[in-house]
Amino acid sequence: MTSLDELPIRDDLRGLSPYGAPQEQVRVSINVNENPYPVPEEVATHVIQQIALALPGLNRYPDREFVELREKLANYLGHGITADQVWAANGSNEVLQQLLQVFAGPGRSVMSFGPTYSMYPLLTQGVGSTYFMAERDADFELSPETARRAIEEHQPDVLILCSPNNPTGTALSLETIEAAYDATEGILIVDEAYTEFRPDGMPSALELLPGRPRLVVSRTMSKAFAYAGARLGYFAADPVITDAVRLVRLPYHLSAITQAAACGALDYSDVMLSQVDLIRTQRDRLVTEIAALGYRVYPSASNFVLFGGVANPHEMFEEFYRRSILIRDIGIPGCLRVTAGTEEETTLFLDALAEITLARP
Ligand code: PMP
Repeated sequence: MTSLDELPIRDDLRGLSPYGAPQEQVRVSINVNENPYPVPEEVATHVIQQIALALPGLNRYPDREFVELREKLANYLGHGITADQVWAANGSNEVLQQLLQVFAGPGRSVMSFGPTYSMYPLLTQGVGSTYFMAERDADFELSPETARRAIEEHQPDVLILCSPNNPTGTALSLETIEAAYDATEGILIVDEAYTEFRPDGMPSALELLPGRPRLVVSRTMSKAFAYAGARLGYFAADPVITDAVRLVRLPYHLSAITQAAACGALDYSDVMLSQVDLIRTQRDRLVTEIAALGYRVYPSASNFVLFGGVANPHEMFEEFYRRSILIRDIGIPGCLRVTAGTEEETTLFLDALAEITLARP
């Protein structure tokens, strides 16, 4: 069999591993921060109708500018955001890829503060840029001073700030985001994939958009919106940023079916988001109960929790797996990450954690 090494692939891709979170049939899947609740029936019925309406027109290419979808996304975001400020693609991964294609690329650099989302270095590699992971403060926090210092030192062409941060759950203050914007001449992407789970009263970086043309706020329907399978990510920014990504997007990159499915779900955004409070309750329960078992739990503004004090994370991951519970070993020493599931799933996880902890020598 031919090995990858024998193919004439780009030198800078040799030896890399693809993104590969396990996708397995288990009793409790709490490893990729999905929403555990299915699409509600009334929404599913409406989405099917929307797709049925789009279907006869599939002989034609879809609306390349996905105008209706952008209007619905702008309406969902509020903050006075208009459709010309919104862009969408197949998941926020593709949104980030398009942004890096146009603002990074060969000879340029991308920076973020680690530990953070594992796709940032891979997306950076894919566009031939250099990735730099700067350090956070204690407990994965990021102060305006620390952000400013690292940006001034490395002067990245693109800076990605993930808030709330995957995998730590840490939210950034608007002061830190403002300081980062002021310190860079490049593009600042704030990845708000998990923002709908943030505590009440915590602001979104959308508030900072007016007057900041180099700021991009990236979002997704994959998490709080319970629509990961539909593959719809989007961003809000100055309209000039949408002009920029038009230079690199593939023509008709959002299929008519994707557009119909996303529009249909946005018509029912309150129903789609109706489980967010339940998930936040389970998140808070994870924080309290994992700590009660003696682990170090990091504050989370997201739908997952990072906990430390695990003697052997890989071994503990295996212990859960043996019980048909899939969690995430994200490679942070002594730590594991778990997603808030339904109440029942969270109970199964916590019972297993208690059992594993008590069985420790
Ligand atoms: N950003 C962050 C921080 C994520 O954790 C994820 C998914 N794990 C994404 C972006 C990508 O999500 P999607 O492509 O499904 O929108």
